[in-house]
Amino acid sequence: METAQPTEKPQKGEKLYEGKAKIVYATGDPSLVIQYFKDDASAFNAKKKGTIDQKGVMNNFIASRIFEFLTEHGIKTHYVEKLSDREMLIKKVAIIPVEVVVRNRVAGSLAKRMGMPEGTDLKRSILEFYYKDDALDDPMINSDHIRAFSLATDKEIEQIREQAMKINSLLYEMFKKTGVELIDFKLEFGRAGGGLLLADEISPDTCRLWDSKTGEKLDKDRFRFDLGKVEESYREIVKRMGGQ
Ligand code: UDP
Repeated sequence: METAQPTEKPQKGEKLYEGKAKIVYATGDPSLVIQYFKDDASAFNAKKKGTIDQKGVMNNFIASRIFEFLTEHGIKTHYVEKLSDREMLIKKVAIIPVEVVVRNRVAGSLAKRMGMPEGTDLKRSILEFYYKDDALDDPMINSDHIRAFSLATDKEIEQIREQAMKINSLLYEMFKKTGVELIDFKLEFGRAGGGLLLADEISPDTCRLWDSKTGEKLDKDRFRFDLGKVEESYREIVKRMGGQ
C-alpha cells in the first residue's frame, strides 16, 4: 500500500543569481528555485545603496501574501509557497526583459516627465513599459519596441496588459481595505512551460503606497529620499496586512 509522503522542505542548492534585493538558489527540482529576500536596498539604479533592517523578512511576508491573494483571484504567478522568514519557493521562469508599471496617481518619474505635482489624480490608470537593462537605466519603451526587438510576442503583450490591469484592480481594492492607496507599482512577467506567469515580487520596494487618510508614504520613497521612518513604514504595511 502506498503511504503519503511527508512534504519535504526543498533543499537549497547552488546560487544561480544575486540581484540587488534578492538571491535565487537552485533546488533538487529543475523547475523550482528558492527566492531569498535580503535587507539590501538600492535606488536610482543602484547609485544609492543601503540596508533596511528586516526588509527581507517583511518583503517576503508581504509578497507571499500578495501572491496568495492574486492566486485566489485567478492570476497565474510563479509563487509556490513561503518556506521561511526570508525564503519563498517559486517556479523557475525566463524573465521577459520588460518592466511593467501601472499608475493610479501621478508620482515619481511621471511627475518629473509631465511636470506635474505628485498626487495629481489621473482620469484613468496608465500602463507603461520599460526595457529592463540597468546599464541603460531602464529606458521607457512602447509595444512597438517590444515587437520590433522580439522581447515578447503580440499575444504575450496582450496578456501582460490584461493581467496587469486586473492585478491593479485587485490590489487597489485589497490595499484600500487596509487604509492604503496603491499609487503605482512595477510588475515583471516570466515564461514557464509555455505560459506566462507573474514573477519577481510585489512589495513596498516595488510599489508606492500612501496612507489613505494622511497621504503619508509607506514605501521605498522613504529610503530613496531619506524621509526617515523607513523600517517603520514597511512594518506598518506588514501590520495592516495582518502580520506583526
Ligand atoms: N519601480 C520598481 N523598479 C524599478 C523602477 C520602478 O520597482 O526599476 C517601481 C517604483 O517603486 C514605483 C513604480 O515602479 O512604485 C513607478 O516608478 P517610477 O517610474 O516613478 O520610477 P522611480 O522614479 O521611482 O524609479
